[in-house]
Amino acid sequence: QNNILFIRSFMILLLSCMTIRINLCFSSNYSSLKTLSVDGNFTFDDVHHAAKDFGNRFQFLPFAVLHPRSVSDIATTIKHIWQMGPHSKLTVAARGHGHSLQGQAQVHGGLVINMESLQEPKMHVHAGNYPYIDVSGGELWINILHESLKYGLAPKSWTDYLHLTVGGTLSNAGISGQAFRHGPQISNVYQLEVVTGKGEVLNCSEHQNSDLFYSVLGGLGQFGIITRARISLEPAPDMVKWIRILYSDFSTFSRDQEVLISAENSFDYVEGFVIINRTGLLNNWRSSFNPQDPIQASQFESDGRTLFCLELAKYFNTDKMDATNEEVMILLSQLRYIPSTLFLSEVPYIEFLDRVHVSEVKLRSKGLWEVPHPWLNLLVPKSKIHNFAEEVFGNIFTNTSNGPVLIYPVKKSKWDNRTSAVIPEEDIFYLVAFLSSAVPSSTGTDGLEHILYQNRRILEFCGAARLGFKQYLPHYTTQEDWQAHFGPQWEVFVQRKSAYDPLAILAPGQRIFQKAI
Ligand code: FAD
Repeated sequence: QNNILFIRSFMILLLSCMTIRINLCFSSNYSSLKTLSVDGNFTFDDVHHAAKDFGNRFQFLPFAVLHPRSVSDIATTIKHIWQMGPHSKLTVAARGHGHSLQGQAQVHGGLVINMESLQEPKMHVHAGNYPYIDVSGGELWINILHESLKYGLAPKSWTDYLHLTVGGTLSNAGISGQAFRHGPQISNVYQLEVVTGKGEVLNCSEHQNSDLFYSVLGGLGQFGIITRARISLEPAPDMVKWIRILYSDFSTFSRDQEVLISAENSFDYVEGFVIINRTGLLNNWRSSFNPQDPIQASQFESDGRTLFCLELAKYFNTDKMDATNEEVMILLSQLRYIPSTLFLSEVPYIEFLDRVHVSEVKLRSKGLWEVPHPWLNLLVPKSKIHNFAEEVFGNIFTNTSNGPVLIYPVKKSKWDNRTSAVIPEEDIFYLVAFLSSAVPSSTGTDGLEHILYQNRRILEFCGAARLGFKQYLPHYTTQEDWQAHFGPQWEVFVQRKSAYDPLAILAPGQRIFQKAI
């Protein structure tokens, strides 16, 4: 009994010491940040928002949030934390729009920098032979679109959803249906301004501090905070011909996708999605697609078949309507889709690009936006995509009612191998995105556990079949898994970390490195 008493007292003492240490740590972090002079402000109470993300599965409460108004706010803060040295546990997560899936923009007990409050630089369009726009790292792509359209210009490469920040997507890659032609968003940046993990503010580009430039692009926030980006622009069209055609056979579908992304004169956007055991075929939450012949579309029956929908867009100006119609007909005539399934729509360019937001508004109104999102994004090499489709769409993923499954090819030649982004080895690879929404507290096939189980089965199959795939928006919890993800790029990634963020202060939510203590 004495022993039990002794152990109990010892445990209480230990817990008290830990609590005191945490409190001391908190109060020293608190007082040291409080003394910093910034143009913006720190909040210490109202921090719950920063412990959430779109994935809605992970919640890590920070101890403070910085709302910077200037780049120097960010630099001063990081430099201060850097100077506290390895004994301070304080780490920092830049938060863009918080649309990560597994807490990547969160930090337990650390500091979140709310990038959207960064007010500088003001967006500035530079027209001319090589037009570009300078924007803050916390700017939303939708705002960049609106601003550049005032000059008849627009960025070339997009994500499907535009309410994401520049810093957030450039830290991953930024992939959509334009990537086959222009590469991902990280291939369309001329210059960055970055605050490193030592608090230095550096400009970088292909010609200046180029190692930092390529480290940060696709760098999962590990090497610095992007405070400014110079993004390449092109003339914007007025309108878009938005087309969907259906296939019952995966080989024909993927062959047509590959033909289109390899042709000189092609569509401006090529994506695709899978339809398994679904009714209401065109009732897809990611789009506001309204075909010109809705009756024909709604009457199309899949009869329980698995279908593959090729989604295409051709940009045009209204004065070139006839020529565009002719071009589209020629392009379509090369394809082997089910003839009765050509669904056409014509929409303004901005409406096409902002299409997912329309669905967001609808889902929000029904309380279906802020549910758990156990998404899984994979990059699968072309030579293995048939094997993948047969097993995954045939045996593992047996209905797509929980959300869309996108599948479309991109070309490796449009990616710069100096960036930190990790992609498969082959010339063409497919983005396959399982964009599931889980019904909260359901234990059925629409519940979180079931969807996570399916995701695990897909990953296990891909590993066992040695598909040479990579995760996009990767999520791993051990350094061994990260090392395997990076493969031969791991050594360079580690070197870059020790050059630009040697104390591992930045982006701890990615769980790649731990702050050296
Ligand atoms: P956050 O979630 O805030 O941050 C992401 C990571 O970047 C974190 O590690 C964070 O610390 C770091 N970070 C944020 N800002 C900075 C900065 N300024 N400097 C350095 N690091 C920073 N992706 C695609 O490629 N294509 C798509 O079509 C696509 N569609 C999507 C649709 C929806 C509805 C959603 C929710 C996501 C989609 N994504 C897509 C994924 C999206 O690109 C990433 O999740 C992206 O990180 C989100 O941007 P964010 O601003 O919310 O970043």
